Amino acid sequence: MPDRDFIVFDDIDKYGSETYERTYEFAVSELDRIDLAAIGPVSLVATASKGDLAAEYLADGSTTFTGDLTCSRCVEPFPFANSSEFHLRFRPRPAVLTENEVEITPDELDIEFYTERLIPLRELAAEQVQLSIPMKPLCTESCLGLCPQCGANRNLESCSCQSAAGDERWGALAGIRAELAKKNEQ
Ligand SMILES: [Zn+2]
Ligand SMILES: [Zn+2]
Repeated sequence: MPDRDFIVFDDIDKYGSETYERTYEFAVSELDRIDLAAIGPVSLVATASKGDLAAEYLADGSTTFTGDLTCSRCVEPFPFANSSEFHLRFRPRPAVLTENEVEITPDELDIEFYTERLIPLRELAAEQVQLSIPMKPLCTESCLGLCPQCGANRNLESCSCQSAAGDERWGALAGIRAELAKKNEQ
C-alpha cells in the first residue's frame, strides 16, 4: 500500500490495523496559538484500528515536537519540548435528530465525529500540538513577569518603580495599611 496522509477507514475494514509514522512541518500561523513563537518538525506515530462499536475506529499514538513558546508573564520566548500520547475514537456523526431525540454530544474528550471515512494525518498532528501547548505558558514557575508601570522584565532587572507600584500579591496588605494610615490621621 502506498504511504498516504490519511487514515482510510475502508482500508482498516479490508486490511486491519495500520500504523503510520509521519513528520510534518507547520508554519506557526497554521496552528492558531498566539503563544507559539516557533515550531520544529512534528513527528506523529499512530495506529488505527476498528473499535468495539459499529463504524467506530480508534487511533492511538503520540506526537513529539520542539518549539518556542511565549511566556504569558514576561513575554519572552522560551524553548519547549513535548511528547504526548493520544487515544481517539472516531464515530459517525449522528444523522439529523428529530425533536424528541436526545441530542448526542460527545461526553468524552477523545471522541470525534466523522462524516468522511478518512482522517487527514496532518490535521490530526496539528490538533495534538494545539492540545499540548499549555493555556498560560510560563518560562519558569517563578517567572516575575513585567513591571506593570515601566514594563521592565523583572527577571532581568529591578526597576525603581517597584516599591511605589507594590507587588500584586501584597495588594490586600497595602489596602489594610492605607486604611490604618487614614485612621491614624483622624
Ligand atoms: Zn517568563
Ligand atoms: Zn518598573
